[in-house]
Amino acid sequence: MDCGFATKCIYGNGKDYDKDKTGTISFPIYQTATYAHPAVGQSTGFDYSRLQNPTREQVEKVVASLEGGIDALAFSSGMAAITAVMELFKPGDHLITDADLYGGSIRLFDNVSEKNGITFSHIDCSSEDIERYIRENTKAIFIETPTNPMMNVVDIRKVSAIAKKHGLLLIVDNTFMSPYFQKPFTLGADIVIHSGTKFLGGHNDTLAGFLVTNSEEISERLRFLIKTVGSGLAPFDSWLILRGIKTLPLRMEKAQENAKAIVSFLQNEPKVTKVYYPGIEGTKGYEICKSQASGFGSMLTFEVESKELALHILKSTMLIPFAESLGGTETLLTYPTTQTHADVPEEVRIKNGITDRVLRLSAGIEDVADLIQDLKQAIESF
Ligand SMILES: *Cc1c(COP(=O)(O)O)cnc(C)c1O
Repeated sequence: MDCGFATKCIYGNGKDYDKDKTGTISFPIYQTATYAHPAVGQSTGFDYSRLQNPTREQVEKVVASLEGGIDALAFSSGMAAITAVMELFKPGDHLITDADLYGGSIRLFDNVSEKNGITFSHIDCSSEDIERYIRENTKAIFIETPTNPMMNVVDIRKVSAIAKKHGLLLIVDNTFMSPYFQKPFTLGADIVIHSGTKFLGGHNDTLAGFLVTNSEEISERLRFLIKTVGSGLAPFDSWLILRGIKTLPLRMEKAQENAKAIVSFLQNEPKVTKVYYPGIEGTKGYEICKSQASGFGSMLTFEVESKELALHILKSTMLIPFAESLGGTETLLTYPTTQTHADVPEEVRIKNGITDRVLRLSAGIEDVADLIQDLKQAIESF
């Protein structure tokens, strides 16, 4: 049965739904490390949980169906997934990555992948001429859109056309939009990444990561890697993500509605000097975002008058925690300069606009009046 998105969030691809003899509705947690073989040379399909576990397999099927990929692999965190993707490359390879990525990805590239002989050009993929940076040994382009934390919108179709022309892989970290709002395979991506910790899990209670692909060859290489490096998602965590995904459409809609209301409030606050959100009409990314996604998401960044005010807000909110992470039921506020992007070199941070006056907010699903009241008292008590 070809189901709609919300149905897939609950049943995966329908046909794959595990109708075991108990009639269980919630997919079981197969808490086992190993599996008995019926006889020599025979397998139940499961041999050892580092290779595959039924609960992990189910969450992988669901995520693959949501993104429209042929395969998804579940890792113990988003960074474990990105580390595995980097194993597709070898010493001497060069990658083009956006300069405004998740701080942990940049830390991995500059400290671990570089050590392994892979080089990078970190550029602004939303405005620079990407082709100028392509070399003989360039193998892939790695982007996020909207970017973290500056919310620049990268035109996925345009970057994909460049990647195809030069035979490069296009890797898209789709964490910020989730497949509910944005489906990079339909725009030309080869590998889609998720920090499942964020919107897919959605409750700030577990870490997870996904690599999704629409190529048999890449899937085979990634399957070899997950079983070899051993960073697959544990059964219980797989189940938490499965449960989180069931409400993904509801949460995405509500969080986006809250984000829009918070944006309007911040735009009218005199002490807020700039608001970055792709859903603001007339901004650079608005039209592109509209053409490639069905929503603008629930992440927003704003700049205030002074560093002192930024620090005051972080310690003065009564409801909204000052915490890393995003995409959960709780609204979170963070300070990219010292938190998520502390390991990004200072000159890059400043060039990207991440000053000490910038705060990032992930809208949750609370009553938005409470969120606005909390922000208002935090700003106005300065
Ligand atoms: C959080 C995040 C990651 C890393 O994921 P973890 O699950 O924290 O390891 C990667 N990319 C983006 C865009 C993220 O927000």
